[in-house]
Amino acid sequence: MPELRKDWLTGRSVIIAENRALRPNEFSAVTANASTTAAYAANCYFCAGHEAGTPPAVYEQTDEQGHWRVRVIPNKFPAVTLEVDNVGGSLKPAFGAHEVIVESSRHIDRTTSLSVRELANVLEAYAARLRHWREYGQLAYGLVFKNQGPRAGASIAHLHSQLIALPMVPPAVEAEAHRAEAAFSKRSTCPYCAVIDEERAQASRIVMDQDGFTAFCPYASVQPHEVWLMPANHWASFENSMDDDTRPRLAAVLHAVIARLEAVTPSTSYNMLIRTAPWRAGVEDWSHWRIELLPRTNPIAGFELATGIFINAVAPEHAAQQLRPV
Ligand SMILES: [Zn+2]
Ligand SMILES: [Zn+2]
Repeated sequence: MPELRKDWLTGRSVIIAENRALRPNEFSAVTANASTTAAYAANCYFCAGHEAGTPPAVYEQTDEQGHWRVRVIPNKFPAVTLEVDNVGGSLKPAFGAHEVIVESSRHIDRTTSLSVRELANVLEAYAARLRHWREYGQLAYGLVFKNQGPRAGASIAHLHSQLIALPMVPPAVEAEAHRAEAAFSKRSTCPYCAVIDEERAQASRIVMDQDGFTAFCPYASVQPHEVWLMPANHWASFENSMDDDTRPRLAAVLHAVIARLEAVTPSTSYNMLIRTAPWRAGVEDWSHWRIELLPRTNPIAGFELATGIFINAVAPEHAAQQLRPV
């Protein structure tokens, strides 16, 4: 029977309706699409040697030979812009920063084509750019996200992420922040730490729990095989947590979880969201960063658009069972 689940913290509603799809164990037979791994692609602006085709880098990590390994550039087609000085009339500019993080100089299209060490370098770039925009002073919130694969909205195959920093905390993030703050003032404990404790005790939705990171399929997963990855320590800010000790541990767990997702889901298109604390004082007690992995096997259709209620055909308990390393 379809079950309505509501996550009180995020405010998301989902209908778990396993009757609407293939049974979960039928997914495992479907193999992933062929991936792209090449040293270089002739017409790709993100490949090494084609830097002139993009705006100049605002951040680069280089190897011992001086070649870049992670490169951050302003988005050529930004959704928001810092250049709002000469705008007149009634036009209200969308203010903010929009950057592209090119994750490798090689022409690869999957996170798992990076080594764990390379993924740790990418995490360092995310943290550095988030810190940069937080210190910029006029922005209130930064989101790092990755759209991997055409069904997740990617238009360029070469592995990259994006950062958008906004002058306000977006409504959905603010609404969750208010619920978290209210929960904290009631119980004097971080509600996300409580979620991790509950998931660990319950165990059925845990995917991986190692090296200080817990990955699980949330109770009200809106997408089949949705995974949240959270630090077991109470850490509010992603960008402040990424020290030399933490980065490689997170990279190893994240790499392993994404590899399981690629093995289990028929399509490897997914969105990855890094949800860090809003850039203001007083949020440390009840903010707790997380990475969301949202495989896009389910198109967002009319019902979802009209109601904000998602229909998910794979119960998170079944999803976690499939995703756990064998
Ligand atoms: Zn390329
Ligand atoms: Zn916490």
